[in-house]
Formats: sequence, C-alpha cells, structure tokens
Amino acid sequence: MIEKQPSCDDVSEPELLPVDEARRRLFSSLKPVTSSEDVSIASALHRVLSTDVKSSVNVPPEANSAMDGYALHESSIPALGEANLTVVGSAWAGKPFPREIKTGEVVRIFTGAVMPAGADTVVIQEHVQAHDDSIDIDDSVVAGKNVRQAGEDVAIGQVILTRGKHLQAADIGVLASLGIQSVSVFRQLTVAFFTTGDELQALDSDSSAGLAPGMVYDSNRYTLSALLSCLQVNAVDLGIVRDNEHDTRAALEHAASIADVVITSGGVSAGDADFVTRAFHDLGDVSFWKLAMRPGRPLAYGTLGKAAFFGLPGNPVAVMVTFLQFVQPALRHLAGRLDVNPVQLPARCLSRLRKSPGRVEYQRGVMSVDDAGELVVESTGMQGAGRLSSMSAANCLIVISSEADGVQPGDRVGVQPFHGLLPG
Ligand code: AMP
Ligand code: MG
Repeated sequence: MIEKQPSCDDVSEPELLPVDEARRRLFSSLKPVTSSEDVSIASALHRVLSTDVKSSVNVPPEANSAMDGYALHESSIPALGEANLTVVGSAWAGKPFPREIKTGEVVRIFTGAVMPAGADTVVIQEHVQAHDDSIDIDDSVVAGKNVRQAGEDVAIGQVILTRGKHLQAADIGVLASLGIQSVSVFRQLTVAFFTTGDELQALDSDSSAGLAPGMVYDSNRYTLSALLSCLQVNAVDLGIVRDNEHDTRAALEHAASIADVVITSGGVSAGDADFVTRAFHDLGDVSFWKLAMRPGRPLAYGTLGKAAFFGLPGNPVAVMVTFLQFVQPALRHLAGRLDVNPVQLPARCLSRLRKSPGRVEYQRGVMSVDDAGELVVESTGMQGAGRLSSMSAANCLIVISSEADGVQPGDRVGVQPFHGLLPG
C-alpha cells in the first residue's frame, strides 16, 4: 500500500496558518518607514502623508452667496406681507460690493460673490419681483439662507488630513484650496523582485524561434511589475534566476542589499524547497508558511538582512492572489498607510462553487448589480491556479470562508473588487 505524504490537496492539516493570523504576524513584524520628504502637491497623488495637515485659513475665506439673487440683512424681511427694497449695487464673484448696506437696501449678488458687510441673507432671484432700481420681497424669505459661511468647509486650525493618509485626488484639491503647495510624505519603498525557474523564457530573449521546448514565458515578472507600478514604489526588476542554490543566493543577497522589500515567485513548493531553503537559511530569517488558503498555500516570509522578504508561489494565479492578500497590505503598511487591507463586500453568488472546508478560497468572479439593485457575483468558470486568463476575465475575487463546504446559487459570499482592491 502507498503511504501518502502531506500535500497541497490535504484539507485538514492542523498547522495551516489562517489568513488573518498571517496578516497579523506580518503587520506586527514589519516596521513602517519613518523618513520623509517634501513633495509638491502636483506630484503627491498616491503618496502617504507623514504629518497631519492643519489649515491656517478658512475655506471659504469669507461668507459668500450660494445662489444668484439679492443680499440683504434679515431686518429687511417683512414680518407680514411684502416690502420694497432698494437695489444699491452689485457683487460678483471676485468683485465684492465696497460698502456696508443698511436695512431697506439690497445688493444684486451672484454665486460665489462675497457677502456685502451688513448682509446675512440671500433671497434667490426667482423669489422676488424686480423693478428698475428696487425689488419686492415677501415674508416667506428665510433669514440666513443661501449663504456659505466663512470656514464652513474647513476652519482655521482644523486638522484636515492626518498622518498615514494615502492621498487621493480630492485630498490634492483640498490641499490646493488651503493654499498649501507642498506636503511632507513618507519616502518611497524600493522593492526588488525576480522570478525563479529553469523552465522560464524571458520575453526579451531572442524569441524569433518562439518558445523553446519545455519552456513557458515568464509572465509573473510582468504581473508583479504591473502590480507594483500601481503602488508608488521604486520597483527593481532583477530578471529570471535559475533553479540552483548559487544563483538564488547571489540574487537574494543583491536584492536585499538594494531594497526594502524583496519579492520572488516560484521555488517555494516542496519539490524546490531544498535549494531555496538552504539559500534562505544562510542569508536571513525566513519561514515557510503553509497558509489556510487556496490558491497560494506556500508563502516564504521573513527578513534578509534589513529587507523584508516574500517568496510567492510560482503559479500565476497564486502569485496574484498572495500578492493582493499579503504583499500589497504589507507594502501599504510599510509605506506608512493606515488603510491597508483589501476591501470586501457581501454579495449573492449566482454560481454553484465547489470547495472543501478547512481553507479560505479566492475564486475569480464577475460581479454586477442585478435588476433589484443587489450586488451579485458569478464565477468565471474553471479555477485552476495556473489559469491566469480566469483572473483577467474577472473583476473581483470571490472569497469563500474557511468553514464553507461549497457554495449553492443564492448563498452569500464576500467579494473583493479589483477596482479598489488593485493598488492605488
Ligand atoms: P513553482 O512554484 O516554481 O513550482 O511553479 C509552479 C508553476 O508555476 C509551474 O507550472 C511553473 O512553470 C509556473 N511558473 C513558475 N514561475 C512562473 C513564471 N514566472 N511565469 C509563469 N509561470 C510560472
Ligand atoms: Mg519553479
């Protein structure tokens, strides 16, 4: 009888590390960068603030009109019936009315124009009867209406953006509205990466003859490069490293000497583990995590000198899934960001999905909103860890909890949208 060894197909291995626990270990062992630099707000998009930003001004700086109409003081509003008020001038955006107004006077005012001194209310032009030099208003005018108060958007002294904020387009606009031209952000991480495998053919090798027998194109390096380019890091592509201890060692040593983070793909499954393990154990402190997830069970994680190290599996889908679940959150954490984990939403699954209990599964899905306005998700079909096309056909990952024993149509699942999950 064959005595079976432990393998990736086993579902109930007691030592499998749950995904949340793995993330917790990552965050507690990785120390975010501390040094910072000043950058112009024009190039601060997707950078991470290293200090709180306080406003030294009010936005808007002065009370102004929210509508086109007439500015007046509330004492000009009749208690009952109508009143005739004298138009004493105009206020335009950028051209204020120069003097204080009195009860019985109004100023023709346009949206964005500063409220004249003495005025606290704007009555919209549709609610007045206009004559040549005066208007009639009635008792329906509400005191204080249609005025944007000074500082109502941002007040002097208010902390408007906090340390650790990953700057979005709106933040850049807010900074500009405060007159702030540059901000202090954490320095960018340098991330060195390479792929491993004797079977890998580089796309830039002489490929006029096509793919050599037994070879596959090295897609992981391009996937990793694309994933990293969205994360505002300095990515250093170190090419393909062949499956032997000497080359692996040399590449790891070089990578660790130039980068904050080193990422590799392949060479961490049982068959490869020998030479990789030896190289790791000599160079740093690396452990092989057997994660309670599919795809992407083996993950090597640790430190090489001062660099953090992630040894991802070789399977192209597993590379992406482990990157999105672990490496991306870790890089965000290291970069000083406070929002690090993938966004996950509840959705109703329309497909029947096969799965065994004991591990979280990340399957490829297409999510949409159905006629009833509910978020629903369908499988992209075959889910093999080597089928990168399933990832490309998907717009989300379907997250099926560890306990679940398959999914029936109509069941609730989690979805991680690529829009929002993918770096940025
Ligand atoms: P490994 O984890 O090295 O055993 O690789 C697992 C599977 O992924 C094998 O079928 C490899 O050929 C494939 N693979 C590994 N690295 C790459 C890569 N860089 N690009 C495409 N496929 C890869
Ligand atoms: Mg390999």
